[in-house]
Amino acid sequence: MEAIGIDVGGTNLRVARVDSEGRIAVTCGARTTGDPAAALADMRALVREVDTPVVRGIGVGIPGRVDAAARKVLSGGFLDLSRVDLVEALERETGRPVILDGDANLALVAEWRFGAARGTKNVVMITIGTGIGGAALLGGRILRGRMSGGQFGHVTVEAGGRACACGRTGCVETTSSGTALGRLIAEAGMPADTRVETLLADARRGDGAALALLGRWAAPLRAAIDSLVAVLDPERVVLGGGLGWAAVAALDYAPALSPWYQSPVVAAELGDRAGVIGGAWAAMNPEAVAP
Ligand SMILES: [Zn+2]
Repeated sequence: MEAIGIDVGGTNLRVARVDSEGRIAVTCGARTTGDPAAALADMRALVREVDTPVVRGIGVGIPGRVDAAARKVLSGGFLDLSRVDLVEALERETGRPVILDGDANLALVAEWRFGAARGTKNVVMITIGTGIGGAALLGGRILRGRMSGGQFGHVTVEAGGRACACGRTGCVETTSSGTALGRLIAEAGMPADTRVETLLADARRGDGAALALLGRWAAPLRAAIDSLVAVLDPERVVLGGGLGWAAVAALDYAPALSPWYQSPVVAAELGDRAGVIGGAWAAMNPEAVAP
């Protein structure tokens, strides 16, 4: 059995045909623009490229708020797909059932079946890139709340802190995202192109400026993780997204705050393939992820 996963990222649109063991048979992609009609046209063209008669369905991961039950995009940031009939267009085009979900939910599904969260039933996933996203698996089910539960980027870590895109202040997205790391680098007077790899290597050598910067980046993330662990008691916390691995390393410079509530924190294993693998698996196993 195979299915198609579509991962709509802020930079890239990825499409892949994936088998039931999570192996990618074929993959293709395009650059994302802010134009929803163009994104839909790209998706249709890329799906045609990878589609075969064995494909059972299509799973699409969306950045932004999604009503997975109604298969509707509620809102988006840079690319707002709430203005196009995504599901209807893809179903008409392919004749295959289409499911829609948040991109972090599908990344978690992939890590749960094939990656860093294999064999668990209770997982917190935090995706760290330009912003911070999240998803949780509780008792083997995706946490949904009314619709869009798991937005862990908006856990408050600094009451009265910096303004966040969500309308509140002091969210962990404002302190520990890739954007926040760039701001800390600028504030430290380091070159704008300073890489996190360099900071981690400098910190390992005991460089004071790198240690201080990574501590400032990671300490609020540690606070958010401690809060989530206290509330949800997961077997594992998985950090994904482009900077997940770096955040795991940086947490060495922001030790756990509470000895009561701790869970192992590990890096995601599937990298930027998690979205398409999770989308395809969800399309093959819709009852396992259904809202
Ligand atoms: Zn926020």
